[in-house]
Amino acid sequence: MTKKYPVEKFRNIGIIAHIDAGKTTTTERILYYTDMTYRIGSVDDGTTVTDWMEQERERGITIVSAAVTVFWQDHQINIIDTPGHIDFTAEVQRALRVLDGGVVVFDAVQGVEPQSETVWRQANRYDVSRICFINKMDKVGASYFASIDSIVNRLGAHPLPMQLPIGEESEFIGVVDLVEMKAIIWEDEDGKAPKETDIPPDLLNKAKDMRAQLMETVAETDDALTMKYLEGEEISKAELKAGIRKATIDNKLTPVFCGTSLKNKGVQPLLDAIVDYLPSPADMPPVEGIHPKTEEPLVRERTDEEPLAALVFKVVSDKFGRMSYFRVYSGVIEKGTVVFNPVKRKRERINKLIRVYADRREEVDALYAGDIGAIVGLKETFTGDTLCNEGKQIQLETITFPEPVIRVAIEPKTTADKDKLDEALQRLAEEDPTFKVNVDEDTGQLIISGMGELHLEILIDRMLREYNVGANVGKPRVSYRETVTKTVEDVEFEYVRQVGNKDIHGHVVLKIEPGQHGSGVIFLPLAPRNHIPDHYVPAIETGIREAAEGGVLLGYPMTDIRVTLVDGSYVEYESNEVGYKVAATMAFREGAEAAGPALLEPVMKVEVIVPEEHLGDVIGQMNQRRGDILGMEGRPGNAQSVRAIVPLIEMFGYATELRSATKGRGVFSMEFDHYDRVGQDVVNKMLGIL
Ligand code: GDP
Ligand code: MG
Repeated sequence: MTKKYPVEKFRNIGIIAHIDAGKTTTTERILYYTDMTYRIGSVDDGTTVTDWMEQERERGITIVSAAVTVFWQDHQINIIDTPGHIDFTAEVQRALRVLDGGVVVFDAVQGVEPQSETVWRQANRYDVSRICFINKMDKVGASYFASIDSIVNRLGAHPLPMQLPIGEESEFIGVVDLVEMKAIIWEDEDGKAPKETDIPPDLLNKAKDMRAQLMETVAETDDALTMKYLEGEEISKAELKAGIRKATIDNKLTPVFCGTSLKNKGVQPLLDAIVDYLPSPADMPPVEGIHPKTEEPLVRERTDEEPLAALVFKVVSDKFGRMSYFRVYSGVIEKGTVVFNPVKRKRERINKLIRVYADRREEVDALYAGDIGAIVGLKETFTGDTLCNEGKQIQLETITFPEPVIRVAIEPKTTADKDKLDEALQRLAEEDPTFKVNVDEDTGQLIISGMGELHLEILIDRMLREYNVGANVGKPRVSYRETVTKTVEDVEFEYVRQVGNKDIHGHVVLKIEPGQHGSGVIFLPLAPRNHIPDHYVPAIETGIREAAEGGVLLGYPMTDIRVTLVDGSYVEYESNEVGYKVAATMAFREGAEAAGPALLEPVMKVEVIVPEEHLGDVIGQMNQRRGDILGMEGRPGNAQSVRAIVPLIEMFGYATELRSATKGRGVFSMEFDHYDRVGQDVVNKMLGIL
C-alpha cells in the first residue's frame, strides 16, 4: 500500500501540447525520473508507456487520456494525458475539466503553434493554472526568447521566465535557475544526476537583469510584495516563491522553463515547478453542483469529511473489463460500498478500486478528496456522470462534447461479423462520447460518425484489430443537420384507430419555431393539464424527439428547433401512450414541413501554414473551396499563416492538394466551428432536382 497524502500534497495536472511538441517524450521522462519506469521509453521506437494503444505506437500520437500517478518531493502527482491532435479536442476538454494545473509544452523552434492556441483558450475557459516548458532546446533554430515572445503575442499571456538557457541548439547544456541564482547542468547520458554549479561568468549580467525583472513582475502581483519592493526591502526566496505560486494559481502569471526531453535535460526542475507552483485541490474554490431533484445550487468543500462528490471523466473497456476513471472532489469513495449516480438515477456497487501507475495497477480500499483513480465494472455510469451518496445527493456539471461532423457507412462482411461489430461499436461509443453509431432510416445502413477523418480512421482501425471484426467501410461523408426557419402555430393532429377491439387515441397541438444556435431540440410542455394528463407528456416528447432524429428534408437529424405542446385533448378509455406518441410524431412532421426546413453543414476553422512563395496558391485554393479568409500573419522562417472559415465538405482531399501545391511544405489544421445554412442550389442537387 502506498501512503495516504494530505490533499495539499496532490497535484492533478495535464501535459498539454501541439502535436509533436514532445508531450509524450516529456511524460516518459517524468515517469523515468520519478522511478516509475526502469528504462526510458521512446516515441520513435514505439516503446512509451502512456501511448499504450497499438495505433498510437504506430502513429506516434497520443489519443486517449489515461491517468497515471507518480511521486516527487513527497507529493503525489496524478498526470492526465491529453491528446495533441485537434480531431480529439473532446479528449482535451474532458481532461481539462478534471485538472487543477497544466504543463504546456512548446517546441522551441516553432513557439506557439495553432493547436496550442486552441487548447490555451480552452484552459482559460476552465481556469486551469499553467506553467510552460519550452522543449527541444537542442534543435537547430531553437530560441527560448522567441518562444516566450510568441506566448505573449499569440496567446496574450503573461509568461514569467524562470530560467535562462545555457547555450542553445547543440550547445544547450543546462539552465540558470533565476530564483536560486544557480546553474544546473546535465552531463550524464540519462540525465539522472543534474549538477548544481555557479552561473557561467558570461551569463551573469543577463541572469542578474532577468532576476531583477522577475522580482519586479512578481512583486506587482501582490500588494504586500509591491510595498516591500518599492521600499527597497529584501524579498526572501521563500516570499518570492510564494508570490510566484499565488500569481500562477490566480492565472496572473505563467512561469516558463526550458529543456530538451529527448536529450534528458531540464525535466527535474519542471517536476519541482509542478510541486512548487501548480495548485493542489485545496487551492481550488469549493466544488459547485446542483441538487438533482430541486436543482438548487450546492457547494462542497474539498475535504474528506464532506459527503462524496466524484465525476467520471473517462471510460475505457479492455479485456479486463470496463474501467471508469474518476476524480473525487469531496468525500471518500470506498471499496465495497454502494454509491448513487443521480444522472441515471441508479445505484452502483464499488467492487474494485484501482490506482494506475505507468506499468501497473494497484488495488486500493479507498480514494480520498482530490484524488484520481478508476473503478472496475460500473454498469450504468458513463463519462460526465456524477457519483454521490444517495442520502446526500449532488450533481456536478456534466462534460459537454461537440457534435460529430463526419460520418461513414460500415457493413459487416459476414453474419458472424455482425454481432462482433455491434459489440465493438457499442464499446467504442461508450468510451468516446464524440463517436456516434446510428442506422440510416432509408437505407438501413449502419453509420458511424466522429470529429474528423483521423478520428474515424483510428476508431475503425481499433475495431478491426482489437475486436477482430471483418467489415467494409464506405467513404467519409459530411454529417449534415436540418433545422426550421419559420414559426408555425397550431399544428394539430388527432390520431384515432381501432386495433382489434382496443381503441387508440391521441390528440396534440404543437407550435414549431427556430431555436437558438447550438440549442438542439427543445421541448416545452405547456398544454393545460385538464386537456392532457401529465403522465402522457413523456410519450409526446418521445414521439417528437424520435421524429426529429430524421429530418423532413433529407433525413438528417434536426437541431436548433423549439417545439411547444400548446394543447390537445383526452378521451377517457381511448387516449393512451401509443396514441399520443403517434399524434406527436405526425404533428411534428407536418409542422416541420411547413416551417421552412433548411439544411445545415459543418463549417470548420482552418489554419494553413505555408512558405511565402506559395501564399498565392493557398489563397486561390481557399477561394475555390468557398473559404472566407479571416486573416494572415507572418510565421518564423519566411512562412505565412492563413486562417479561414471553410465548409467541411470542401476540405475533403485538401491534404493531398496542399501537399502538391506546396511541394510538401504546407501544413494545415482544422477544428469544427459551427453549423451553417446550405444554399438551396446545393440542397436541390442533393435531392436530385437539378
Ligand atoms: P507529442 O506528439 O507532443 O507527444 O510529441 P512526441 O513526444 O511524440 O515527440 C515528437 C517528436 O519530437 C519525436 O520524434 C521525438 O523524438 C521528438 N522530440 C521530443 N522531444 C524532443 C527534444 O527535446 N528534442 C528533439 N530534438 N526532439 C524531440
Ligand atoms: Mg504523443
